[in-house]
Amino acid sequence: MKEAVVVLSKCPQAHRIYGIRAEKAAQNHWRLTWAFPVKELSAKRESYDRASISGQMEWDPKYPGCPYCGTGSLIICSCGHVYCSNVREDGTSICPWCERGGRITSGGGEGRSGGGGVTILASGDR
Ligand SMILES: [Zn+2]
Ligand SMILES: [Zn+2]
Repeated sequence: MKEAVVVLSKCPQAHRIYGIRAEKAAQNHWRLTWAFPVKELSAKRESYDRASISGQMEWDPKYPGCPYCGTGSLIICSCGHVYCSNVREDGTSICPWCERGGRITSGGGEGRSGGGGVTILASGDR
């Protein structure tokens, strides 16, 4: 059995959450294999909101992208949550979980074909 977790992500466009299934490929290395819509209540029941992943990520070729807006790009906020990339022209983004904005820094992980990738949201200067 492969170790796998479900990480919650939020779609800033749809204002809804979805689960991302991540398989552990190696230490600090995750392969994202699936994304599916979840209800906030069942997410709590399944403890999806407690899972988090960090380190390197790669996209399985079958990864479908966000079930609402279809993007494969993700941003990991400094609050630890994941959401669909919504980078603005000035290179900043607002996290729909903690509602803090920040500048996008280049992150680890390899871009998925079709423009995916993980970027890290640095906490804003304050
Ligand atoms: Zn989305
Ligand atoms: Zn956040």
